Amino acid sequence: MFRAFLLFFILFQFSFGETFSLSEKAFFTGDLGYLKIKDFNPKDRYEIVIKNRYGRWAFPVKDSISYFAVPLFTKGKYVSLYLKKNGKVIFSERLKVKHKYYRVSRIWVKKRKITKEVLERIRRENRLLRRTFKVYTRRLFKERYMHKPLKNLIVTTPFGAKRVINGKKRSYHWGTDFKGKTGDLIYAALSGKVVIARNLFYTGNTVVINHGLGLYTLYAHMSKMKVKEGQFVKAGQIIGNVGSTGRSTAPHLHFGVYINDVKVDPMLVLKKRLF
Ligand SMILES: [Zn+2]
Repeated sequence: MFRAFLLFFILFQFSFGETFSLSEKAFFTGDLGYLKIKDFNPKDRYEIVIKNRYGRWAFPVKDSISYFAVPLFTKGKYVSLYLKKNGKVIFSERLKVKHKYYRVSRIWVKKRKITKEVLERIRRENRLLRRTFKVYTRRLFKERYMHKPLKNLIVTTPFGAKRVINGKKRSYHWGTDFKGKTGDLIYAALSGKVVIARNLFYTGNTVVINHGLGLYTLYAHMSKMKVKEGQFVKAGQIIGNVGSTGRSTAPHLHFGVYINDVKVDPMLVLKKRLF
């Protein structure tokens, strides 16, 4: 009976070839989505391209499930998703883009003198982060949903807020800030491997976890780090404590989510089923 079922299953797959399923067909800017490919063959070369007349973003596909972003700066009401196999488009879908209002966040921080050495440090750390987030590995998590990085999630500054620092327009807020007290426990959002656990100029004591398939989470301004680079962690495992290290005005957790070095809105991802 089981063999008959198996045979039927194989024939069914064979006769229908590759089928595709998308997580959603409408996305907010700064959103994360996934595409599942039935009959994925690792010998073929696949790629997801998100594009419209305003922009184009490519995401690697090396597994039967692959993630992509509809980036914060996506303009227009629609983007097209193309799945390429060995250079040929084998699937496409028009995705609706929902635009959100992003507020302005004004903060005042104590001026730190940016010497040549500090500037070099900032550049070096930025290169390290860019390089880290582009590393694509096999999947390292099994959880369908993210674990909350703090027991209580109270947003103080949302993702995508336009930053005004000491009265000057700066970049965007590339993560979500959660309210917290010094010492509050920080938990890994998904299982994975700690790839960064060190002090960085802007984000202070910073932990970055690689979850595989291009997905990363970042935890900043910690008072204490409880993990080391190279260590594997489970979802929900304690990785450190809330603090105010780096460029920070008060104790809080800055939590970032990245897919192939594209920043996505942690609040959207925290509510999302991941496969
Ligand atoms: Zn922040």
